[in-house]
Amino acid sequence: MNKEISTPFRTKEILAKYGFTFKKSLGQNFLIDSNVLTKIVDQAELTPESGAIEIGPGIGALTEKLAKRSKKVVAFEIDQRLIPILEDTLSPYPHVTIRHSDVLAADVHQVISEEFDEGQDLMVVANLPYYVTTPILMKLLEEKLPVRGIVVMIQKEVAERIAAKPGSKEYGSLSLAVQYHAIARTALTVPKTVFVPKPNVDSAVLHLELREEPPVDLMSESYFFEVIRASFGQRRKTLLNNLQNNLLGKENKPMIEEVLSETGIDGKRRGETLSMEEFAALSNAFYKRKD
Ligand code: SAM
Repeated sequence: MNKEISTPFRTKEILAKYGFTFKKSLGQNFLIDSNVLTKIVDQAELTPESGAIEIGPGIGALTEKLAKRSKKVVAFEIDQRLIPILEDTLSPYPHVTIRHSDVLAADVHQVISEEFDEGQDLMVVANLPYYVTTPILMKLLEEKLPVRGIVVMIQKEVAERIAAKPGSKEYGSLSLAVQYHAIARTALTVPKTVFVPKPNVDSAVLHLELREEPPVDLMSESYFFEVIRASFGQRRKTLLNNLQNNLLGKENKPMIEEVLSETGIDGKRRGETLSMEEFAALSNAFYKRKD
């Protein structure tokens, strides 16, 4: 019986066998700590009937753990050089399918309908390439995939920004963009030493439980996010200033003040103190007044 892929010894052996060299441009930092991988998979709460979708399997360290805990795993890997390696390392797991593609270009809905049963419990679990963390997460969330949740290892600082609450310095448009779709929390932080090669930044595991219903009623989802982006335009400026400068124009100051007073929000506050409900009230009130 082979040792687990994630052990430092086996990882080294696989890399040497194929003469594999890491591509920094693809965010290739592989995990070599079995305990950390187990903790990531624990967060996903898979059952033997669950399906798992992985992004960037590398040489298969996390994929193997997922395969042991689920009915089926589908993994998207962009690097052609890893495909024959994965065919070798994951050969004991016939219920794993590797798709050679860029997840950002993939039709994930289509893949889900081809690979999984309708209504099957599905989780996305990944150690994401850090250079494209936010685009990948936003794609998965905005496409409203039929998945229960997302568990991903990402840069610690980004995980903190995503899970931040109003009033904290990490809170911003990324927190709201993600929290509109999911309940977010950081599950564990992970030292650099568990990766080869060692990245420059610390990492954390982010847990996202997808919402079945949006948390706020909106007249326009896209306008809500425009108001949010404008409100965080210059973090040290007041809400009134940011809305004037970045969205509605100085000539609309009386209308902005009227809306602020109607919604009970003080224009001297900063964007970072507003809750999602307050942004929803503001954006609906402005939207109603649009031409
Ligand atoms: N899962 C492995 C692990 O934990 O050891 C490797 C994780 S490594 C941080 C990120 C992986 O994502 C690499 O295998 C890289 O080639 C792959 N990758 C990078 N960009 C990608 C993309 N756009 N679509 C799919 N895979 C990608």
